[in-house]
Amino acid sequence: MSKAETSKVEVSEKGFFGEFGGSFVPPQLEAVLNRLAEAFESYKDDPEFVEEFDFYMKEYVGRENPLTYAERLTKKLGGAKIYLKREDLNHTGAHKINNVIGQILLAKRMGAHRVIAETGAGQHGVATATACAMLNMECVIYMGAEDIRRQELNVFRMELLGAKVIAVHHGQGRLKDAVDEALNDLVANYENTFYLLGSAVGPHPYPSMVHYFQSIISKESKRQILEKEGRLPTVVVACVGGGSNAIGAFSEYIQEENVRIVGVEPKEAATMTEGTPAVIHGFKCLCLQDEEGNPLPTHSIAAGLDYPGIGPEHSQLKVSGRAEYYTVTKEEVLEAFQELSRTEGIIPALESSHAVAYTIKEAPQMSEDDIIIVNISGRGDKDVNEVKRLLEAKE
Ligand SMILES: *Cc1c(COP(=O)(O)O)cnc(C)c1O
Repeated sequence: MSKAETSKVEVSEKGFFGEFGGSFVPPQLEAVLNRLAEAFESYKDDPEFVEEFDFYMKEYVGRENPLTYAERLTKKLGGAKIYLKREDLNHTGAHKINNVIGQILLAKRMGAHRVIAETGAGQHGVATATACAMLNMECVIYMGAEDIRRQELNVFRMELLGAKVIAVHHGQGRLKDAVDEALNDLVANYENTFYLLGSAVGPHPYPSMVHYFQSIISKESKRQILEKEGRLPTVVVACVGGGSNAIGAFSEYIQEENVRIVGVEPKEAATMTEGTPAVIHGFKCLCLQDEEGNPLPTHSIAAGLDYPGIGPEHSQLKVSGRAEYYTVTKEEVLEAFQELSRTEGIIPALESSHAVAYTIKEAPQMSEDDIIIVNISGRGDKDVNEVKRLLEAKE
């Protein structure tokens, strides 16, 4: 990311994207977040900070990753030309590491020597523990007791990487309870502790920070598609959970009015298609809620997409009509997972398979002059056991 290219997030001072976003938190936490927002503002255009981020993206994450032409899939579907942005090739196998390294570098500048995070399925916890090991930061991961039981191997990975995993027993022992515990820790220890959030959600300034660090995805893909095709894509497609890989994949195209922007979510967690405005976890977004305004449980086969809300910027992109959001079914996702594996030799994460599933339906409707860029947010090795089980259950 060169200085001239730094992000152009259209965000009001308090972190509002239209009516969405903001910061709805208790005063003590508000003070901590204000300090964070100031630090982010001052470092995001600092050439030394940007250079340091670029250094680790290249030397540790392995960027830039390719924009691969999916020739066999394109020919088989017979329509738009399909390109895959290969976040699956990053160290740790997904896009999450981009944001994690960015936030830890900011934490260091702020004088923190301790990083805390919460994790549900464990992917964000593993990425955080990885970068904390490399950057010599103490790392504490809060995880619901029930999630710890279900994600034994990820817990072992985090511990192997030197992190301390703390089980949260109260409430339902799930992600939400782990978030509460991590926030208590932050308020008590803010002088030396940094709270690392893993998606484009949460109170200001997290959605803007995550956007900034993940925008490296579309900065690369834009340069790459112009080199390969001499023109911009017709459409950019990404899966949306909290919305971080998608906002990174979309960022550079938001101002390009002729490029369609498409987010794809699970039918079982259709935040965008069925959600209504609400405040959850300290910010306003489109959210699946019951009649009393409590977030509804979701049940996606892709753990990374199992979240009842969505980032505020996506909420605004949706209501303003700039971006389109669609759902795909579990069956379509499983088929896409296998199809990309067979035709391109790339096993996509179940999350990314949502974007692939949409592409498989859409590409044949488009002309051969059209170009689709699909963000492959991560690799699917972590999902093969689950897919095997699901496919055998269908037989
Ligand atoms: C975590 C994860 C996601 C979902 O998170 P976003 O913030 O919506 O990007 C998607 N894909 C992969 C591979 C993930 O690990």
